Amino acid sequence: MSKSDNRYPDNWSELSNNIKELANWQCQRCGKVCIKSGDKMPDNWTKSQRHAHKLQVHHWDRNPENNSTNNLAVLCSGCHLFYHNRRRGNISPGQLSLLEL
Ligand SMILES: [Zn+2]
Ligand SMILES: [Zn+2]
Repeated sequence: MSKSDNRYPDNWSELSNNIKELANWQCQRCGKVCIKSGDKMPDNWTKSQRHAHKLQVHHWDRNPENNSTNNLAVLCSGCHLFYHNRRRGNISPGQLSLLEL
């Protein structure tokens, strides 16, 4: 893996954890409480259940180099996919207000 492919900052895992912490490990779209990174998930969960309870950080402008708070959203994997599947170029100001942590 070449380093130049990685547009995320060096402290991305720290950064994203802070943002998730601020959001109380809840998805900002559907409100689902996800599992903190490092916390154990129930052993009897399937792979997809585990995946569904992982919180992800989304960049509204799809640019991982732009990590200002109003460009980031904390989303569960389902909601994260929702935004990526919509394939809309621009973001309405209404969506951005979701981001006020
Ligand atoms: Zn969600
Ligand atoms: Zn995303």
